[in-house]
Amino acid sequence: MARRTKKVGSTGRFGPRYGTRTKKVIREIEKIQRKRHLCPKCERYALKREVAGIWVCKKCGAKIAGGAYFPRSPTAEKILRTLTE
Ligand SMILES: [Zn+2]
Repeated sequence: MARRTKKVGSTGRFGPRYGTRTKKVIREIEKIQRKRHLCPKCERYALKREVAGIWVCKKCGAKIAGGAYFPRSPTAEKILRTLTE
């Protein structure tokens, strides 16, 4: 299949709008957000983002509350670190 977007990736939908810098930042976030993540329950890479803050495992069906764009937000990491210390 021919690649439609060579550089812009998921931000191709914005066309020439909003500037290249802004789009680059969004591109990086969306790349991670759409990727399959590690499920903490069955430990398989099947965790997918359903809506902001909710992650669903495609293998075991687990529903997990997490960050809006990543299963573990940087803030959550910080809190968990403090709790385990
Ligand atoms: Zn799972």
